[in-house]
Amino acid sequence: MKFQAPRGTYDILPDDNSQWNFIENIFKKVVKLYNYKELRFPIFESLELFERSVGKTSDIVEKEMYVFEDKKGRTFALRPEGTASVARAYAEHSLTSGKRDPLRLFYQGPMFRYSRPQKGRYRQFYQFGAECIGRPGALADAEIIALGWKILQEAGVPDVQLRINSVGCPDCRKTYLKQLQNYLFDRKKNFCSLCQRRMKTNPMRVFDCKNPICKDQLSDAPQMLDHLCPACQEHFESVKKYLNIMEVKFEVDPHIVRGLDYYTRTAFEYCVDYLGAQDALGGGGRYDGLIEFVGGKSTPAVGLSLGIERILLALEKRKISIPQMPSLDVFIIPMENKFIENAIEIMNNLHNENISAQIAYAGASMKSSFKFCDRNNVKFAIIIGANEVESGKYAVKNIHKREQTNIKLNKISSYIKADLT
Ligand code: AMP
Repeated sequence: MKFQAPRGTYDILPDDNSQWNFIENIFKKVVKLYNYKELRFPIFESLELFERSVGKTSDIVEKEMYVFEDKKGRTFALRPEGTASVARAYAEHSLTSGKRDPLRLFYQGPMFRYSRPQKGRYRQFYQFGAECIGRPGALADAEIIALGWKILQEAGVPDVQLRINSVGCPDCRKTYLKQLQNYLFDRKKNFCSLCQRRMKTNPMRVFDCKNPICKDQLSDAPQMLDHLCPACQEHFESVKKYLNIMEVKFEVDPHIVRGLDYYTRTAFEYCVDYLGAQDALGGGGRYDGLIEFVGGKSTPAVGLSLGIERILLALEKRKISIPQMPSLDVFIIPMENKFIENAIEIMNNLHNENISAQIAYAGASMKSSFKFCDRNNVKFAIIIGANEVESGKYAVKNIHKREQTNIKLNKISSYIKADLT
């Protein structure tokens, strides 16, 4: 029987890893610039955590969770996103970073959603996330948005559109939601069945619908931005002001509401217009209510997540080449089997000097060995034949410079190291 990876999942094969490493390295570099510390949390959590935090009426909780019972009958779910777990860990460990400083955390890893697999949409996919916890002011929102922007710029993703909005606070949202609901109910029959359901349970989610007919109906809908209370208005103005100073380009889009229930004030998305339906590379927002909601003290927070597959897809679509990771430094080529021991000695010396090295298959032809060097961007080849062993001097070939020098065994490592550094 031949097995396959489960539908909606895939293997990241060795040749694809340089792309993944490229993105991961950028992410790590940028979070370091902003002084974020890594939090690693479980792949599964109690189902209730996601029901409470992501929201029972969200698509994720309603339709997309991998839920299972353990042997004692407790119900868990594979994590569909990271913010709920960050909030849970923050509350559980009473994490803080100091009275005035926010706690800056990042995470990365696989997330799981049972959605219809297609290009850019998988059942196991990889996210980066960053959360700034403990600061209510607009600076934290702007910092988080700028951090995501910087990652996408460093990765070289062309034409990213950053859209921002404010979804207000529970106070100003109350009156707005009534108006929105009235507007939607007046036109109920023109909306798709999902929107009709959402108008009752979570009316702002109607803005998330991709159906062009529903979108059309929303052109004159009341907007949250016109109903912000003075404090939310001021917060939004400050976010925009700070983003301008940070040279982050954005547009205000009153229809960005995000799919999750716990957002307050700022909501944002990074999109591109060349990936069809999977046009969102990431997004986030402020979630001042969440930590209290999962059992912690009332704590303001703002965060973002980015999907790695979507970033790679955007680069591929626009044919942006990703730099190859530096690969093997030295390929040691014994011309016959009897020279393997000499090859091992050379390899060992090189490894002791932190120079990467690998021994070629002794029976391979010179031609195929040098083909390997080309394919793998190898910097040096060392050829071991009878003359070399007899004289104690080895032919060290600098492949990029097309130079060859004969060098004594005990000098090989220092010779190569001098060139590599
Ligand atoms: P969300 O948590 O839904 O806001 O998603 C944040 C980002 O994660 C999205 O913008 C995508 O880049 C990525 N993402 C979400 N769901 C999937 C999925 N099923 N497959 C691949 N990427 C996804």
